[in-house]
Order: sequence, then structure tokens, then C-alpha cells
Amino acid sequence: MKPVRAKKIIFIFRNIIFQPYTASFVQDNIIQIRQSLKIAVVISLLFAFFSTFTTAILTENFAGFSLVICFRLILILLCTYFIFCVSLDYKFINNHTVGIGTGFISVILATFVLLTFLDPARHSFYLHRASAILVGYSVFIWVYPNIIIVINFFFITVFWLMNHYIAHHVTGQTGTIDQDILMIISYLTIGMSANVLINYWRLMDYRATLKYKKALTDLRIANDEIRAISQKDEMTGLFNRRYLLEQFEIFKERARRQKHSVGLIILDLDYLKKINDKYGHRQGDKVIKEFASIIKKRTRNIDVCARIGGDEFCIIASPIDERGLKILADGINAKTEQAKIPLTNNPNEIINFTVSLGCTVFNGEKNYKFDELYHLIDEALYKSKHAGRNRTTFVSPDGSPKT
Ligand code: GH3
Ligand code: MG
Repeated sequence: MKPVRAKKIIFIFRNIIFQPYTASFVQDNIIQIRQSLKIAVVISLLFAFFSTFTTAILTENFAGFSLVICFRLILILLCTYFIFCVSLDYKFINNHTVGIGTGFISVILATFVLLTFLDPARHSFYLHRASAILVGYSVFIWVYPNIIIVINFFFITVFWLMNHYIAHHVTGQTGTIDQDILMIISYLTIGMSANVLINYWRLMDYRATLKYKKALTDLRIANDEIRAISQKDEMTGLFNRRYLLEQFEIFKERARRQKHSVGLIILDLDYLKKINDKYGHRQGDKVIKEFASIIKKRTRNIDVCARIGGDEFCIIASPIDERGLKILADGINAKTEQAKIPLTNNPNEIINFTVSLGCTVFNGEKNYKFDELYHLIDEALYKSKHAGRNRTTFVSPDGSPKT
């Protein structure tokens, strides 16, 4: 046998015969399982019903067969109750389908064993009926294969031993027993093989679906990651210019609908070039990162902080009024001034730095363009720089200065 084919066969045996399917498989296929269960129980019910009215029992001594009839009625009641439970969509059927199905087959088979014992003259008749029911239930092989196999094996052994006992001690017809048992083994083998094959394809189908779902989830995650990366500035973790522009339009629209104001701030570190020259580019980077964390902390989660150039940042904050914007800007100036960055190679030496800001507050009544407002606040920033840096200049969106 070719190694690949051998591998496949081992795979089928391992996965279909010796390993129960995963809980997710059972849950995902619960509708089909319930359906199979219903069909199997209906078949059992029909068998039990017709066997109750078997003419032989009614014509013979009725009192002697009352126990037999009693067991047959129990079987009918059991089946009816079970169909009722499955049809009413009881939750416990979903949670314990396998256990309930297995228990039910066991009870039915036990009833048939008892019937055979009580009514030995028709032992062959019971054996065939019980086997037919068992073949029906072997559809459960795709839920819990090892249990089904054990039940089949157990059933054959019990009936074989019992029929031997009956043949030797009660009826004396020893010839037909092994023939009957061989026939039953053929039923069960055909039933199981058919189900194994069906389930093999079902399992393959299920795996393919799972793989497809996983690939889709991975793709979504990768997509989200790519989107997040494309919105962020790598060095500081703040948003980038592209995201800021997108958000500007959203903030503007929200401000128009909800009738509140939006603050737009431009921030540029003071003398970063000098810091770079004096302490090196890496220390300059540390200053940029420290400043990014300052503005992130001073703003709300819903505000947008972006790095739009080397040492240039922009904030969109909303809802905010002029007073709020002043508090925010002053807070940023103050916190930046207080920040102390130790030198990497000499922690005793501290780098201090400051920032200059230009800002405005606008509402949604007028459809401002980002470039137009950016130009205004950039001019305000220029004024801050010229007035000595480490300060904020306010400008109204129509261009007039504010104090
Ligand atoms: P000003 O107060 O006028 O803003 O002075 P400045 O030195 O900060 O000058 P400006 O803002 O015009 O130039 C920004 C400088 O920041 C230029 C460059 O040396 C430095 N820079 C830009 N990007 C980075 C960066 O990613 N890392 C570091 N370390 N420095 C940067
Ligand atoms: Mg600068």
C-alpha cells in the first residue's frame, strides 16, 4: 500500500472511529443531529407500536403476556416522550444530545433484551427489531463513534449469549442462532460503514469550512493591523497626517450636527535643532517621544493627536470652547516646560525643552477647509515663535487675533 494512502486510512480511523468530534462540530451540526435523533426515535416508536399489536400475543394467554405488553408500552411512552422533548427544542437536548441519545439507545436495547427473556419463543423477532433500531441509531457515529461501536458490540454479544441460552434451555432450535447473529452483524456493519463514509465527507467539509473561517479571520486581523499601521506615526504612536485630515472632516460634520465647537491646535517644539546638535539625534528623538506622551495625556481619548512633521504636531479636540482650549494649551505649555529628560549616557544631566502653539476654535456653521484653518494657526504659531516661544497664540477662524 502506498504510504500516502495508508496515512489517509489511519487518519480516517483515528478521526472517525476513535476520536469523538469536537464540541464545536456537535454544536454547529446540532440541527442535523436533532433531526437524525427524531428520525431514529420515530422508527423505534413504529417498531414498538406494531410489535405491541402482534397477533400472536393477543391470541395467546393474555395474562401471561401482560409483562411483555407492559414493556412494549413503556417503549412507546419512552419514544413519544423523547420525540416530544426533541420537537419542543428543549435546551438540555442541545447540551446533552450525545448523552441523551446514547442513554436512549441503551434503554431501548435493554427493553428488547428483557422482552426476549420474557417472550423467548419470539427471540429471533426481537433480535431483528433491536438490530434495525440500532442501525438507525448508528447515524450517531458522527457524534460519538466509539460509544456507538461499543454499544453495537455489546448488543451483539448480549443477544448472542442470550439466544444461545434460550435455544439450549427453552426452544431447542440451536441451528438458526449463529445464522441470525451473522445476519445482524452484516446489518450493523453496513449501517456503520455507510455512516462512517458519510461522516468522513462531513468532517472534511466541516474542516474546510473551519479553515476558510480561520483564513477569513486572519485576513480581517491582518487588515485591521495594516489599517492601524497606516494611520499611525511609527516613532510616537500618535496618528499621522492622513488620519488627521480624515478625522478633521468627521469632527467638522459632528460639530455641525451637534452644534458644538472644535479646537484645532498646531504645536512645534522649540529649538529642537539645537537639542539635536548639542546632544545628538537620539536625544532629540527622546524629546519628540516625551512630548508625544505629554499631549496624549493632556487630551481626551476622543481627541486626535497627530505628528504631522519632524517636530510638528496637531491636535483636534472636541467638544471644546475658547476657555477650554486655553486651559488645554496652557496645560501643554506648562507640562512641557516641566518635563525633564535625562541624557542616556549621563543621567545626571537633564534636557529641558519647550513648545510653541497656534490655535483656533471653530463651529460647524461654516464649512471650513483644513488648509485654510491650518494656514491661520500656522501663522499664529509663527507669532508665538517670534514673541519668544514657549507660548500659545489664539486666532479666530475668520483670522482676527484673540488674546
Ligand atoms: P523652532 O523653535 O523655530 O521650531 O526651532 P527648531 O530647531 O525646532 O526648528 P524647526 O522646527 O524649523 O525644525 C525642526 C527640526 O527638528 C529640524 C530637525 O533637526 C529636527 N527634527 C525633525 N525631525 C526629527 C526627528 O525625527 N528626530 C530628531 N531628533 N530631530 C528631528
Ligand atoms: Mg521646531
